[in-house]
Amino acid sequence: MRRSDLFLPASREPRASAADAAASLERAGLIRQAGSGLHAFAPAGERVKRKLIRRLRTAMAAVGGQAVSLPALQDARRWRESGRWRDFEDEMFTLENRDGRAMCLAPSHEEAVVDLLSGAVRSYDDLPLLVYQVGEKYRDDHARNGLVRCKAFTMKDAYSVHADAESLALTYREVRAAYARAFADLGVEFAVVGADDGVMGGSTSEEFVAPVADGSDRLRYCTADGCRFGVTDERADFEDFAAGGDCPDCGGDLAESDGIEIAHVFQLDTRYSEPTGFTVDAADGTEFHPDMGSYGVGVTRLLQVLVQQDLEGGATDDGLRWPVTDWSTVAPYRAGVVPVRYEGELRRAAEDLYDACEDVLLFDDRSQSVGERFAESDLLGLPAKVVLGDHYLETGEAELETRDGETTYLDPGEVPGALERYAAGT
Ligand SMILES: [Zn+2]
Repeated sequence: MRRSDLFLPASREPRASAADAAASLERAGLIRQAGSGLHAFAPAGERVKRKLIRRLRTAMAAVGGQAVSLPALQDARRWRESGRWRDFEDEMFTLENRDGRAMCLAPSHEEAVVDLLSGAVRSYDDLPLLVYQVGEKYRDDHARNGLVRCKAFTMKDAYSVHADAESLALTYREVRAAYARAFADLGVEFAVVGADDGVMGGSTSEEFVAPVADGSDRLRYCTADGCRFGVTDERADFEDFAAGGDCPDCGGDLAESDGIEIAHVFQLDTRYSEPTGFTVDAADGTEFHPDMGSYGVGVTRLLQVLVQQDLEGGATDDGLRWPVTDWSTVAPYRAGVVPVRYEGELRRAAEDLYDACEDVLLFDDRSQSVGERFAESDLLGLPAKVVLGDHYLETGEAELETRDGETTYLDPGEVPGALERYAAGT
């Protein structure tokens, strides 16, 4: 992408707090607030969101998930059957259509997935079945902390249907493990917390909670590598796990912080299939209500948490910094190409490099000062800058500088290969 063509509504307004992730996303030009609890994504933010979604789609495909799409605008009927009509923690947006029928903007999709499957999945032989979608959810929540608590947000939600509890438990474990791998790849810190089932119902559920300095839950979690033990203050036994105490799983140290829920997995059993009359034929010709599972990841919330954990880690400049892991990064572009002067041989070399890398770079082809252009690359959190300046004129080598300030010198022909590690999803 040429910088001169990119719509980037960045601003240099000072932030109230250096750790304010939502304000940082807005300043960098990734999102714009559209009202209380409502946000629009500008092109650079949309690119990050799509990379996150791509990683989550890969996670679902790895456990046999099939992509579907369920309507956000729904009839009240199934919600009345499930008993959740108007009862969704007082957060349901309801309305009437022109014929006077009650409708809602879906805060969740258990009812809608029953609509999709009930009557169409006829036999135990068709089970287990795992479907997922990526789409908008609507909840009339109190807006707070940017993309973390808002009224419209993007979620990757999945639903499974089973002939028995064993099959449900197996899929539950598989999805849980797939989420853990995806979050590790994305570079988010998290703990897994046995949770209160709340508004969803069912027998077993766990939350993936990201430790942050400023969040809505209190979290105590294990700091040992690879151990994901955690508890939040929603649990009655929270006080049994003191900060500084030992992890009950591995003996490691427990730390305390705030937390933000980024995902939630549920074994719903027959909580939805029974009241909605969803039945499947058993081998012996009788009918039964299938067990169901539900698995959600807050995509837009996760996007902000990636930034928030970095900023709270003591970032010293005022830009974003997307985690770079062995997997890759969700940064909006692999690198910025910055010719120190956009003229003559530097301009030619930069154009050649840009052509070799196509759409994956942000090519700074404008005439602002080089300092301003470096600052913008950091503001967006690009993992690297490819600088073409005096060093290139003297030696023919480009300078590849990472977001953390490490510089290597490369023949321009080697640059596309060196940037492959930032290619999300490959
Ligand atoms: Zn532990």
